[in-house]
Amino acid sequence: MKVIFLDFDGVLLTLSDYVRLAKSGLSLDDLCPSKAVQNLFQELLARTNAKIVVSSSFRIGRTTAELETLLQSWGCSNGHVLGRTSDMKTRGEEIEEWLKQREHTHMDVDRFVILEDDVFDLGNMLPWVVKTEFEVGLTQRHVDEVVERLNDD
Ligand SMILES: [Mg+2]
Repeated sequence: MKVIFLDFDGVLLTLSDYVRLAKSGLSLDDLCPSKAVQNLFQELLARTNAKIVVSSSFRIGRTTAELETLLQSWGCSNGHVLGRTSDMKTRGEEIEEWLKQREHTHMDVDRFVILEDDVFDLGNMLPWVVKTEFEVGLTQRHVDEVVERLNDD
């Protein structure tokens, strides 16, 4: 199984989405990735068939099912959310912990990548990061890099 550890802010949501929200006076619930980012993310999932583990702070206070519903409301119809990382350590440690726990289950993780704009607390997990920028979010270059990393066998 292929897994994408997914941050939302800086990957799916960008500075301009927050600016647009602030100007519109709408609530945080009205946040939504741009159509371009939605399409790129759909392309990424279609090309890799990867499952999603949410490492974004959006995971806090939301169940796995609620996170999947949220992603689907953002146009990510083929997004299957497998789980979310815990909220106790650094982001790198939380991802490591999630992977360790899966070693003892039937859900074998063959390959994974970490889509993230903030890499300061990724520690040992840095080699698996595909880094985005908060101002731009997911681009075609990132999609191609993740596809290459997950599909290369
Ligand atoms: Mg972020």
